[in-house]
Order: sequence, then C-alpha cells, then structure tokens
Amino acid sequence: MILGIDIGGTNTRLVLYDCEDFRVLDKILSSQKNIEGLSGRINRIVESYGINAIGIGIAGWVKDGRIIKTPNINGTIKFDLTAPYILENDANCFAYGFYKLLADSKIKNIVCITVGTGIGCGIVIDGKIYRGKGLAGELAHIVIEKGRICSCGGRGHLESYFSGWSLEEQFKKPIKEVMRENIEEFYRLREVDIFIKSIANLILVLDPNAIVFGGGIGMNFDKKVVEEMLRDYILPEFDTEVIILKDEDMVAKGAIFLAKETFYWLI
Ligand SMILES: [Zn+2]
Repeated sequence: MILGIDIGGTNTRLVLYDCEDFRVLDKILSSQKNIEGLSGRINRIVESYGINAIGIGIAGWVKDGRIIKTPNINGTIKFDLTAPYILENDANCFAYGFYKLLADSKIKNIVCITVGTGIGCGIVIDGKIYRGKGLAGELAHIVIEKGRICSCGGRGHLESYFSGWSLEEQFKKPIKEVMRENIEEFYRLREVDIFIKSIANLILVLDPNAIVFGGGIGMNFDKKVVEEMLRDYILPEFDTEVIILKDEDMVAKGAIFLAKETFYWLI
C-alpha cells in the first residue's frame, strides 16, 4: 500500500494506491492548523491501512528531497513520519504522473504547468524528471518586468501577474468566479497574455511533445483558445500538442509512482 499526498496552497489531498487502483482518502484545506497537524494525520493512516511507503508532492521549492521554500503554504511544515517517504515538488509529481499514466509511448518530453494558488512547472525529458541542480522549472518566478511584489519576496515575477493568489488580489474575488462570469474578458486580460507569452517562450526553448495544463485553474482552460493564443507567439515549425488535464489527483498519483520506484523492495 502506498500513500500519495498533494500539499497545495489551497487544498491537501491524500490518495491510496494498492498497486491496482487509486482511491481518494481525504481532501482537507491547507490551513495552518491542518498543515502543522499533517504528520499526525498521515501516521494514523499509515497505522490503519498498513502503508509501506509515502510519496509527498508539495507546492514549493524542493532540492535533494528537502524543502527550501514554500511561499504559498500556510504554517511551517515538518515531517515526522512512521513510514519511509519521498518529498518532491508538486508540479514534478504531476508531470511524472502524467508521463507514467497517460502519455503515449512515443512521448518522452513533456512540460506540465499547474495553475492554482501559484504556478508550478514540471519538466519530463527522455522519461525522467528534469531537475537541473535541483530547482529547475521555477517558471513561476521568471521575471516579466521590474514590477509587482511576488509571494517569494522577489519583484515582477510571472506569478505576481498570473496565478490564483495574484489575480484574486487584483479582482478581490476568486479567479474561478471571474472566469465563470465573463470568460472572453478573462482571456483578454493583460495577465493572461503575459502567461501565454511565458509558455510560448518555454516551448521555444524545450520543444516538448506536449504541454499539459492542470491545477484548480489550469484544468478549466479552453484548449482551443489556449492553442490559438500560443499560435500568435510560436513559430509555425513548432507543433507541441496542448493538453488540458482535469485530474485533481495527478500530483498525488505522480508522488505515488516516485515512492514506488524509490522503495520498490518494500512494495
Ligand atoms: Zn517569485
């Protein structure tokens, strides 16, 4: 039995895997109280279900299995767990989960963009997560201009223009509501254009087989509109496929596969 955990800025999801099926055990708010009590909750599940290994995907900077920074998570996170576990950036888990479960066998290079409270970017190259020296894929903090203050403390980063938290700050209501009220107006926002340009630049650098959008906001994108907007910026020779993935559990599933491969002798 493997437990997969997705710790996002808004929600935390716990998914069980018996090497055949996935089952959502729990979805809780990522409140400070829940985050700080997470180890206790996990250890109770380990005990009840006989968990052999745990995979944790977290919205934050993770290097060599250690948390460096979690600007979008409330409270201090510390793991004191009774089963072996791996810790990975949530977008990396999403990308790996997509690669293992859904990618065509010919597809080896994938870029996954999760848009929720923040922006995550997971890159799979030749079937492996690309980490650089550890922190690769921090698309959220690429510099747009010397402008708005970002959640990380930096200035003018992509996430301070386009993300759940920055758009909510600007519109004084959840961005899903803004999208529901007037979707045409949403796609005309300067912030959306900034985001699309950033994605186009990423495609031009990596030329992946597919670019996959997910996350609470990303899964509501319109594939046709995103394709059209990208076409305005990408050279016609690039034919990266655009995929919108409506699977809220993909981070937890990817974390499960990483735990399964790391602790294969325990499963
Ligand atoms: Zn930043």
